Amino acid sequence: MYGLLAAKAAKARGLPVTNLIERHLPGFLCGAYLGCDIQVMPEAVCVDTGREVGFGTVPLEKSPITGGAVKPWSMAHAGRNYRPSEIHSLFYGRSHLVFGWKGDDVRLSVPWDHLADYCSRAIRDEMTSERGLAYALGWMVHIVGDSLIKSVQPGIRMNLLDGVYTPRNRIIQDQFAFHVIGGEMGIDWPTVLREMAATPVEAIQFHYMRVGEKRGHLAELFAEGWKPEDESLLGAVLAENRRWLPYHIADVLRAIPRDSEKARRISGGLEYEAMMKMAESAGMRQTLDIIANESVDLIEQTMKQVPAWRDLPSVLKVD
Ligand SMILES: [Zn+2]
Repeated sequence: MYGLLAAKAAKARGLPVTNLIERHLPGFLCGAYLGCDIQVMPEAVCVDTGREVGFGTVPLEKSPITGGAVKPWSMAHAGRNYRPSEIHSLFYGRSHLVFGWKGDDVRLSVPWDHLADYCSRAIRDEMTSERGLAYALGWMVHIVGDSLIKSVQPGIRMNLLDGVYTPRNRIIQDQFAFHVIGGEMGIDWPTVLREMAATPVEAIQFHYMRVGEKRGHLAELFAEGWKPEDESLLGAVLAENRRWLPYHIADVLRAIPRDSEKARRISGGLEYEAMMKMAESAGMRQTLDIIANESVDLIEQTMKQVPAWRDLPSVLKVD
């Protein structure tokens, strides 16, 4: 939703990258959705069926398939097994930049007001794939959206059910975006999600996470934190993210129908109509608007620092 609204806001401003975004919309949306979330992988294995289940780092007590027991899932790579929580500690901050770093790495956090410096330099170093650039622009939407909705960066004052972004209100936000806003915009969600999930890993993902050879404009300004030794592990993680994404989307689509069993359970028994009323009066529309516009602010500031993009003409049609 954030990605689709940001694409719309970028077009309304006449930003020249609008064309690139539209040509590679699934890649852009994958950047916005998957974007930084390197923990998109199973969390557990259903003991009865042997099938992988869940979403990395989100605790799961029983199998969503049988209701029976689960055992921890881990990713095997180069003779070792990694739990999703380990992957999260290693890479989550690297992709979210402004938050989510662990331990000694906290010093690597990129200040909010330097995000455009960071993003523009990563982009300048890796401009060979247009689809990769669309992914990177989507990734920027993910950073902004996550930071604002999780109140890492101030800007959203919303009290929906029990706060801005909480385990209970998340399903209300999802249903409002999916049914109400998606309905108004005429979005065919299953198709949009399926096409988004089918896009490949992009080379620029390694570079903007500073995993790989230390190089380019990015390394000039952000000299620390480069981890060439983790390149093969990150390759396995990003491939795993893409492998698991279609399964995760199937889980999301199962929870999203109006009055789904899961929606009722998480929200504490609220009905669909009541949830949508709550979202409207809490200002969920305004929240989405702020996120889309702040995302496009970052895209616009970044464009100004990318010489190949700086002087492109506006795509606003004047008549
Ligand atoms: Zn995230």
